Parts: sequence; structure tokens; C-alpha cells
Amino acid sequence: MTLADTKPQALDFECETGNYHTFCPISCVAWLYQKIEDSFFLVIGTKTCGYFLQNAMGVMIFAEPRYAMAELEEGDISAQLNDYEELKRLCLQIKRDRNPSVIVWIGTCTTEIIKTDLEGLAPRLEAEIDIPIVVARANGLDYAFTQGEDTVLAAMAHRCPDKAPVLEAEKKERNAISTLLNFGKHKDDVATADSEYHDHPPLVLFGSLPDPVVTQLTLELKRHGIKVSGWLPSKRFTELPVLEEGYYVSGVNPFLSRTATTLMRRRKCKLIGAPFPIGPDGTRAWIAKICSVFGVEPQGLEEREAQIWQGLEDYIQLIRGKSVFFMGDNLLEVSLARFLIRCGMTCPEIGIPYMDKRYQAAELQLLEQTCSEMGVPLPRIVEKPDNYNQIQRIKDLNVDLVITGMAHANPLEARGISTKWSVEFTFAQIHGFTNARDILELVTRPLRRNHSLKDLGWDKLVQEAASV
Ligand code: SF4
Repeated sequence: MTLADTKPQALDFECETGNYHTFCPISCVAWLYQKIEDSFFLVIGTKTCGYFLQNAMGVMIFAEPRYAMAELEEGDISAQLNDYEELKRLCLQIKRDRNPSVIVWIGTCTTEIIKTDLEGLAPRLEAEIDIPIVVARANGLDYAFTQGEDTVLAAMAHRCPDKAPVLEAEKKERNAISTLLNFGKHKDDVATADSEYHDHPPLVLFGSLPDPVVTQLTLELKRHGIKVSGWLPSKRFTELPVLEEGYYVSGVNPFLSRTATTLMRRRKCKLIGAPFPIGPDGTRAWIAKICSVFGVEPQGLEEREAQIWQGLEDYIQLIRGKSVFFMGDNLLEVSLARFLIRCGMTCPEIGIPYMDKRYQAAELQLLEQTCSEMGVPLPRIVEKPDNYNQIQRIKDLNVDLVITGMAHANPLEARGISTKWSVEFTFAQIHGFTNARDILELVTRPLRRNHSLKDLGWDKLVQEAASV
């Protein structure tokens, strides 16, 4: 055997024009205001941003959400009105009506272009109205969709306390995770329960996940004696985790590279670079990596993964041997593709808005390893894809399933190509062992539906172009 044979094939990265559909990053307010219960999000932009949010959030806008638009007027743009006074008026109104623990200002394209100094105004106003103001520039000029959460969390990382407060005991009582984990136990039992954990440096996880998933992942690590000291973000702004120098941090989502950088550079934390806990393979690799950093031998992890795979077999049968194409719009693509390849699919192309090769290094390595173990070719990774070119490639490759945004879903379906709407992966619960089934439920849904309708013979609904 020569050396060249053993060398794994390298991934092929390309970069196109960036002419693709995705959600504007201000959409992150939709899930973050629900996650951080005492927050209020103020999006400082124009009617364009307002229309987008109003439509993208669907029925949620009727539930008195804790977000609002500060709509800029002609007078703001031409600097005839005073930005500070206008924002103060709005923030005082928010304080009076909702009394939040934090107001998050979301900067938009317009505030970038007219160079509104949000970072400069915030500390002054914060001192005056006595509510913390966090500034995140989640605009469509710089970022795509889920990266909005990244900018908010990077800004919040600065607000995490750097020392455990004196009232820690009392605070712990209110902390949702520990209350849940210790539900129904006596104080003494809780103290003994602490000894179930290995002695390791504090670990804080970052990434906004629904509360049930937070509990699931916290418990998965607890099985191996790893204690999660806190989550960024927490359920309440007032309960942000303590971040001291030398704490370990690990991300649960692939789009949090700025947050990771802030935690390392500004808060002097140590990042555990692991594949993300999406799919049973990813979850196992994530837990194994955290355990290895703390020198803990994971117990029964392989068996647990095998058991989950067994439960997925009925879904896997539907997709094995089929091909999937990611047009790319939410940065979850590499992790999802890696899981689907492990399920037996092939993937010719992974489109992705932005690729941080350092933050995603472990995930990319697992992708390569998965492809070689499954004996399938490595996908090409297309950063900043061009949707027009992608449509041509989808046609040429004759793929079975395209994961794409709503703009292309119906036109592709009408041409007989099954599609799955990519945004659902952002809102569904996809992390950890137990949610792997939900991912496959989403992926197989269009295939199951089209299979049951196939006898109707209506798989192509557009007129072929007339040849003259
Ligand atoms: S892309 Fe810019 S203008 Fe459009 S909704 Fe987003 S922030 Fe507003």
C-alpha cells in the first residue's frame, strides 16, 4: 500500500457569487425573545425590515411578542431628528409597558449605511434609564439568517458576570436547569448528587436551544459525570452564566463562530472544538470530545448511539441510496449532510452562506470520515452559493431531494423534484440523541408524500418549453 492510498481525500471548497436566498439575520429576534423571557428586542430599521419580520414570524405576531420596530423616518436619515432623544423616548415607553431586564437593539442595513453610532449611544442611555442595553448589528449587509443569533450572543458574552456572585446559593434556587434536575429532592440529596460529577473545570455551553433540549443535553452529559455550569443564553438575562478566565466552553450550533471567538479572546475561555450534537453520530462525537478534554472515560456511549440508530431504521430505509442537495441558507448544512450521509444518502453539494473552517474543523473532519466509512464521494462545499447556477446543477444531477428555501421549493416541486423547506430545521428540535428521529421525520416527509401521490401521475406540472 502506498502512502497516497491511505491519505483521505480532501474536501473541495468553492466560493460563488453570494446570489442566494436566505432569511435576514434580524429574524433571530423570533426565537431569542422566546428563549430569553425577560428581554425586549428593538429592531432599528425601516418598513422593509418590519414587513419581513411580520411575514416571516407568521402567527407569532398576534401573540404580543416582546419585539418592536423603531422605524426610521426621513428626519432620522437626514439627521434632523436627534437619534438619542428618539431612542430614549422609545426605550422609556418599553420600560413603562413591559419592564424588561434587558433591551437588545438590533442594528440593520440602514443604521449601518447612515452610520448610527448605536454602540456609542447605548451606554449613555443605559445609565440614564437604568436598564441594560445590548447592541447587536444583525444586518443583511454582513450576515445570513442564523448568524443573527451569533451577533446577539457575542454581544451578550460581554455581560456574563466574571465572578460567581455572593448570592450564588439563592440564585441557584432560581436557576431553571438546576431546579429541574433537582426537582423533588432534599437539599442534602442535592449535595450528594454533586459528588456524582467528576472533578473537572467549569463548562459553559453556548447556543440558544428550546428548554426541553437544554435539559436533554445537560442530562446526557450528566450521565458521564460532566456538569454543565451554565448556558449562554440562559432562560433569563439576569441568570447569564458566570465566565471566569480558564472556563471551558463548547458550542451546540455551527453558526456561532463570532460568539466562540469572543469567548476565547475577550473572556479568556477555552473552546472545546467538537462536531455538533446533531444526529446520533454527531451527539456521540460531541460528548466523546468533551469527555476526552476532561479526561473522563465515557460509559456506554457506543451502546446508546447504536440503540438510537436501531430506532431510526424505518425512516432510514426510505432514504438509503438517495441523493440530497443543500442549496444552503442557514449554516446547519454541514452537520445535517454528515448525518444524512451516515444514514446512507449521497450528497453531491453542500451550499452554505459562510464557512468558518476553524470553528467547524471537527465537524468537517467528521464529514470526511463519514464519507470514507460509507464509501461515498465527498460533497463539494459551495460557500456563498449562486442559486441560479445551483438550479442548473440540480437539473443536471437529477437529485432526489433538495433542501432549500420557500422561494425555490414550489417551482422545483412542480418540476418533479422533491424539496424540503430548510427553515424548518432551524425551528425544529434537532439536537441530541432523542431528536434524531425528528430530523428524519422532516427529511422523509416530502418523499413519503410524493410516494403516496405518485400513482396520480401529476409529478410534473409545468409546461415544457416549446421547441421551435
Ligand atoms: S436585509 Fe437589511 S433592510 Fe432587509 S430586512 Fe434585513 S436588516 Fe432590514
